[in-house]
Amino acid sequence: MKRKLVVIGNGMVGHRFAEKIVEFGGTEKFEVTILGEEPRRAYDRVHLSEYFTNRSVDSLYLSGSDWYRTNGIRLLLSQPAISLDTVSRKIVTSAGTELEFDELVFATGSSPFIPSFEGLDKEGVFVYRTIEDLEKMMSYAKGISKVAVLGGGLLGLEAAKAVLDMGKESHVVEFASRLMPRQLDEAASAILKSKIESLGVRIHLQKETKRALGESSFQGLEFVDGSILDVDMLVISAGIRPRDELAKNFGIEVGPRGGIQVDDELRTNVYGVYAIGEVALHKNMIYGLVAPGYEMAEVLAYNLCSPGKSKQYLGSDLSTKLKLIGVDVASFGDALGQEEHLPIAYTNPRTGVYKKLVLSPDGKKLRGGILVGDADAYSNLLTLYLNNVDLPSEPERLIVGSPSEENSALGSLPDDAKICSCNNVSKGDLLNAIRSGACSDLGGLKDCTKAGTGCGGCVPQMNSLLKEELRAQGKVVTEHVCEHFKYSRQELFQIAKVKGIKTFDEMVRSHGMGNGCEVCKPAVASILASIYNEPIQKHREIQDTNDKYLANIQRGGTYSVVPRIPGGEITPEKLIVIGQIAKKYELYCKITGGQRIDLLGAKMDQLPDIWRDLVEEGFESGHAYGKAMRTVKSCVGSTWCRYGVQDSTAFAIRIEERYRGIRAPHKLKSAVSGCIRECAEARGKDFGIIATEKGWNLYVGGNGGVNPKHAVLLAADLDEETCVKYMDRFIMFYVRTADKLTRTSAWLEQLEGGIDYLKDVIINDRLGINKDLEAEMESLVGSYVCEWKDVIEDPEKQKKYKHFINSGDTDPTVLFINERGQKRPVDWPKKEAVVN
Ligand SMILES: Cc1cc2nc3c(=O)[nH]c(=O)nc-3n(C[C@H](O)[C@H](O)[C@H](O)COP(=O)(O)OP(=O)(O)OC[C@H]3O[C@@H](n4cnc5c(N)ncnc54)[C@H](O)[C@@H]3O)c2cc1C
Ligand code: SF4
Ligand code: SF4
Repeated sequence: MKRKLVVIGNGMVGHRFAEKIVEFGGTEKFEVTILGEEPRRAYDRVHLSEYFTNRSVDSLYLSGSDWYRTNGIRLLLSQPAISLDTVSRKIVTSAGTELEFDELVFATGSSPFIPSFEGLDKEGVFVYRTIEDLEKMMSYAKGISKVAVLGGGLLGLEAAKAVLDMGKESHVVEFASRLMPRQLDEAASAILKSKIESLGVRIHLQKETKRALGESSFQGLEFVDGSILDVDMLVISAGIRPRDELAKNFGIEVGPRGGIQVDDELRTNVYGVYAIGEVALHKNMIYGLVAPGYEMAEVLAYNLCSPGKSKQYLGSDLSTKLKLIGVDVASFGDALGQEEHLPIAYTNPRTGVYKKLVLSPDGKKLRGGILVGDADAYSNLLTLYLNNVDLPSEPERLIVGSPSEENSALGSLPDDAKICSCNNVSKGDLLNAIRSGACSDLGGLKDCTKAGTGCGGCVPQMNSLLKEELRAQGKVVTEHVCEHFKYSRQELFQIAKVKGIKTFDEMVRSHGMGNGCEVCKPAVASILASIYNEPIQKHREIQDTNDKYLANIQRGGTYSVVPRIPGGEITPEKLIVIGQIAKKYELYCKITGGQRIDLLGAKMDQLPDIWRDLVEEGFESGHAYGKAMRTVKSCVGSTWCRYGVQDSTAFAIRIEERYRGIRAPHKLKSAVSGCIRECAEARGKDFGIIATEKGWNLYVGGNGGVNPKHAVLLAADLDEETCVKYMDRFIMFYVRTADKLTRTSAWLEQLEGGIDYLKDVIINDRLGINKDLEAEMESLVGSYVCEWKDVIEDPEKQKKYKHFINSGDTDPTVLFINERGQKRPVDWPKKEAVVN
């Protein structure tokens, strides 16, 4: 006869436990019943916020609707266990159902912690834990405009971003002096604060709340320091409390501050009763993350299914990666350096990047770390840390070196090295899954192994491993944009064009899956803008910050305004106008390397007014913010220069006006020099033209920046019309075929056959597509609109530039000083780009 196994709680960990019982053959031995309090089967709470955008529970469910039945598991939903007898070994549910058990598992999770100040019983106060919570919030939020989130931890910040995405003014109130105080140090937190503020969320630190204001409905918060925050809805995200009430009431031992006490085999003080997940108190720790719960679920399921053998749960790592779009934050291991350690920190206040490694005192092992502003190294660092790998002799290169140096860690790892800590998946597990032939793409690998389905931090490593292994097997490696699209950027471009797809939603519904991510959304936006030349603002919700605001965000949260000055030629009248506008808005002026004038220090809410003034005087956007055609630099050429053989300035102006604003996989720059002396540095550009006695030489695939490349000759001694024709074809071929964020130089390097092949395509029409390429370019040239003009003519679009949605106040946190006769932002805390 089978033993009776009852699980209380059908959340993430309860479900994982059931999966592991099935995997280890436990349904042969046990009759399994799961009790769920919520009205629906287990779903992915970690990605709960996605419900705000897609309202789809289906995409969050952790299993198909008949998974439990198929596996012989009885699932009772909307039936919380309400009483327990550990002597007669029975459970009673709220529906009066009586269940006997031999083994009982508590997987009851936790509930949001509610602080004790007065007034929280009003309408308009919410917690953030279940689908029902979100539905209530969304329905209430329809009638209000300002929302505060209480708590500046991981979940609080996620809630604040969700509030912002609902189009509400979003405030975060935190008692501590910094954000994410459990994961980040002061320096990291300061950078995170400024990044989140630049998204439009207002942060209030060191605020102790006294009471919630309002009669029957919530009207704001009053703080102990006497100040008041005028908001009309509150979301509480101030920590969690384990759901141990049932256990405690019926004789199971709980800790002094809550949580069911368990030992290393997840046993409670009552024989045959266990606890896992957020309700379990193990070695004085309650884990508020899913990965430890998954580890506990696996250990317990194994022990129950394997008599005579036992695994132990020895505690988990608290690594986390914040899931906010637009802010990279990760912290792992002993991030705050609580043990004796050697710290290495890299701070770059200008770019808003902070990276810290916490090393063992001898510098040989990684004990923890923090990444803010650039978390690309997270998965590699986490692997080094989790697997206690010996560090290279110059560990600082892990945070200041190039990604390829960081990546080298992967190949040398042993097969038992842990890659996904959320789901406890090793390198060997991933390799086995790939080698078995069961999964040949990232989505498949996730499905087979569950790796990458938690915080997602290990996905880049999974991807590298998958590609390496497929290459080693001699298989074709597909360059899918991301897990939401089984297509390369090039294929998506063709799909959008052929099918006439005009929105991201249409694209993901017809050719993708899920809701998209920070990789595919901007990629699709760029493709749509390249094809239809519509203002990028039409796809605003899926853009990077710079594109969202049509301006480059600068230090201290201000923006730059760069009007187009084709070929660098400008009349005295226009120079005066720029000066007057800069004076009016107190903007700092700087001549750029691209021969135009950068107006720096604008606050977000000033942008539409500045643009209006500029547009009225005949200026337009210079697209300095976009992955788009930027400038065409030129020398003075034959008009003024003794050596010049052609009029480089006139040609540069023609080119810049022709290609202005065209969206591409990456930024595009150009230059024209009037003779071989190359004063405009045309060979450092994506496409550059150098005058010859007979006409123009056209060079392609150059760039400056981190990895400078000289452009190579595509065609020599061209007349102006042929040169333009070749440029049309070259740009469109690049726009059609390059992968996202790939400059022309890298694209050319990856092109099989390199420059010879490109010449064959562009000059000899090897692919027979040149007529199409020219027609596509003609349509882009003919449909150009200035994106600034588009905003200043539309009051709705202008609303997006208000700092605070319901007031005209500007951002008070942006501070300036005067230097060399101009205004500039105050310095960041003194820690300039040091490795110490
Ligand atoms: C918005 C949000 C974002 C998050 N983001 C992350 C993240 O990025 N990374 C991360 O690691 N973690 C994150 N978490 C935390 C993660 O969701 C939890 O760690 C995880 O869900 C814990 O799983 P659990 O099964 O222990 O608890 P839960 O998922 O809470 O499940 C417990 C279940 O038990 C039910 N229950 C309680 N009492 C009873 C009873 N008496 N009878 C029957 N059923 C009962 C509850 O209703 C619930 O359905 C996030 C959480 C939220 C809310
Ligand atoms: S590139 Fe030639 S034409 Fe142009 S400024 Fe230099 S020397 Fe003169
Ligand atoms: S080189 Fe470019 S990115 Fe670097 S500081 Fe100067 S402007 Fe900024």
